[in-house]
Amino acid sequence: MLLTLKNEFRAVSRSGKNKSAENRKFLQTLKKKDARLVDDAFHQMHEEVFEELDCLTCANCCKTTSPIFIKRILNG
Ligand code: SF4
Repeated sequence: MLLTLKNEFRAVSRSGKNKSAENRKFLQTLKKKDARLVDDAFHQMHEEVFEELDCLTCANCCKTTSPIFIKRILNG
């Protein structure tokens, strides 16, 4: 089951940015699956991806995403 989910994740990620409707449908199907298996597959793939990616050399998130402050955080 975990392998199947991983293959599904890979297939969707390969499909590219222009398939948002298909991706949304895939995400809806995840809601029907065992949440623990989805979570396990996600964490396993996270480890695999970040073995290859280094955020410190990329820093794209830091360049393109502003920090979000909400009142509750600011008030401590
Ligand atoms: S900095 Fe952001 S875009 Fe770059 S590898 Fe890390 S998570 Fe991905």
